[in-house]
Amino acid sequence: MMKKIAILWFVMVLAIAGCASSEVGNEREHGEKIQVTTTIGMINDIVKNIGGDHLETIGLMKSGVDPHLYKASQGDIKKLDNADMIFYNGLHLEGKMVDIFEKMAKDKPTVAVTKNIPEQELLSPADGSQGHDPHVWFNVKHWISAAETVEQELSKFDPDHSEDYQQNAEEYIKKLRELDEYVKKQISTIPEPFRVLVTAHDAFGYFGEAYGIKVMGLQGISTASEYGSKDVTELRDFLVGNKIKAVFVESSVPKKAIEAVIEGAKEKGHDVKIGGELFSDAMGEEGTEEGTYLGMVKHNVDTIVNALK
Ligand code: ZN
Repeated sequence: MMKKIAILWFVMVLAIAGCASSEVGNEREHGEKIQVTTTIGMINDIVKNIGGDHLETIGLMKSGVDPHLYKASQGDIKKLDNADMIFYNGLHLEGKMVDIFEKMAKDKPTVAVTKNIPEQELLSPADGSQGHDPHVWFNVKHWISAAETVEQELSKFDPDHSEDYQQNAEEYIKKLRELDEYVKKQISTIPEPFRVLVTAHDAFGYFGEAYGIKVMGLQGISTASEYGSKDVTELRDFLVGNKIKAVFVESSVPKKAIEAVIEGAKEKGHDVKIGGELFSDAMGEEGTEEGTYLGMVKHNVDTIVNALK
């Protein structure tokens, strides 16, 4: 009898302890979410998809913003200071923020989402400058690596919710795989001689390599470098010589450079049209389909295929 009471008492104590600990858990869930600050919209999109309700995210660089030239404002520094975690692209994309990331890394996880892409898969800049081409998101496979890195880092920081992060990542990566297939299929419908993508700056190197389209940019890998009249002439002659039908403007780069090429081709008797606007280093407006990574890539591919086919 005494034994039974003892067991009952023990069970009650356990139950009370259980309640208490679950209450603590609830408090945490209803209380502060993990604050994450990111740079480009494409990264913010990954973090939102994988973090779900456990996070609050702030993306510093909005639609139409050029990350190569972006300088952090005082307000941005505060958003980075207040964050629990920071995700950025790295590979010198955010060229003017490198020192800030170094400083932040002393206090909190400050993660380059590109860090796990094998170095041999990174491209050199087309203009022969040092380092690696940072525009990895245009090979969807590399962006899957970025998503995996975000999942691992979130799970490490917040192990209580790692199952959620893993499940969200799995679902998101499934969509990325489908996107990768879609891009491959669509680009292959362009007749081979016309598979040439001419843009204002060299953002599409990974895209060209992954999906089999020749890529030419007027400006180098970073918009911080100037284009010269020699670049305009070379590109013009290429367009005229190969009867390329269309060139593309970018939402985050001024259109004046590419317009000079079109004008030049016209003087040589070859009409080149603007095939449309591509999202290169920034996504579309928030709330639109192009304001997501999946929608942005799909928009680009559909625009390219429609103009070149
Ligand atoms: Zn760029």
